[in-house]
Amino acid sequence: MQPKELLTLAEEFGSPLYVYDATTIEQQYNRLTAAFSKVENLRINYAMKALSNITILKLLKKCGSGLDTVSFQEVQLGLHAGFTPDKIIFTPNGVSFEEIEEVAKLGVQINIDNLSVLEHFGAKYPKIPVCIRINPHVMAGGNENISVGHIDSKFGISIYQIPHVLRIVENTGMHINGIHMHTGSDILDIEVFLYAAEILFDAAKQFKELDFLDFGSGFKVPYKKGDIETNIEELGKKLTKRFLAFEKEYGRTLTLAFEPGKFLVSEAGFFLAKVNVVKQTTSTVFAGIDSGFNHLIRPMFYGSQHQIENISNPKGKERFYTVVGYICETDTFANNRRIAEIKEGDVLCFKNAGAYCFSMASNYNSRFKPAEVLWKDGKGHLISKRETFEDLIKNQIMIEV
Ligand SMILES: *Cc1c(COP(=O)(O)O)cnc(C)c1O
Repeated sequence: MQPKELLTLAEEFGSPLYVYDATTIEQQYNRLTAAFSKVENLRINYAMKALSNITILKLLKKCGSGLDTVSFQEVQLGLHAGFTPDKIIFTPNGVSFEEIEEVAKLGVQINIDNLSVLEHFGAKYPKIPVCIRINPHVMAGGNENISVGHIDSKFGISIYQIPHVLRIVENTGMHINGIHMHTGSDILDIEVFLYAAEILFDAAKQFKELDFLDFGSGFKVPYKKGDIETNIEELGKKLTKRFLAFEKEYGRTLTLAFEPGKFLVSEAGFFLAKVNVVKQTTSTVFAGIDSGFNHLIRPMFYGSQHQIENISNPKGKERFYTVVGYICETDTFANNRRIAEIKEGDVLCFKNAGAYCFSMASNYNSRFKPAEVLWKDGKGHLISKRETFEDLIKNQIMIEV
């Protein structure tokens, strides 16, 4: 999107504001399916925790996507957006048995990542097929908070516990219809991913009634110039070849599934915030914006580096700024960043703000969550309203004290 278009949206809908470009989401979806076009049954389940607005869900549904969900509420939102239960997979971690039951009763595919839950579920519902989440014990991630397939991770059933899984299957008569892994975000190296995939293929051979193999996600997208990006096209070529060979070996066609979040929506998102103050100190120049980690926590939480552009003065001379929020705690978005000269009142645009940005927003400091706008067919469409004071107090109860 052009700085001018974004600036107009900030004027029209106010600041701070999230903007999502529909075309980018569609293009990313098509890029992924094109990379695996030789696979007969491909299934993309959008990991909706990245960005869960129901219009975004609808857009992805129109592309042909299914949904990957991690809570009962996400399942409800998915159904509300028009997905049928057979298009949804539930991949929770550490949720209660009751929650899993509730979701299974809706006809949604369950993915289990714990032996005790598997045993309990199999004993109670031997007729409901389940997928199992395997931990291949491969370090494929970038940041330790988002790398979830390694040996110390809380996610998945250890690959070394497959014999135990097989015993449970035999004892309960349950049906394992899928095998899943998700090694975590930010796959830097395709070879590592392919290595983990081999482990999954190997495990899959031991289950005779599989319908699908789910390779999770973790596709890395570039945040700044020179960043490594998962080469989807190359991964597509290599994994397709291996998958087709596996199908032959296995003796039947299988569905190949992925569940990307970031890959589909990260680059489509822009976060716009206005500069309240420019503060020259002895060491740096601060640009203080009308937002904070209540609206965009990734830089403080994972150290993610969002590109920042001054869309009010895109051609201005570049200077160094430390961009900070208005939260009464240190909330630095960027340190000593080159940005076109900033004046108070300018609007800054944070790139890659589609995934894990609005969905992680809170009301800390009693601030309203920003509005969200979808840019489609050359127009901005409001897809969630800015919160109001009513929203802040609607669940609070003032009692006599
Ligand atoms: C979060 C998550 C994803 C999506 O990860 P991205 O890095 O956003 O693509 C996929 N699968 C599971 C099980 C997840 O928890």
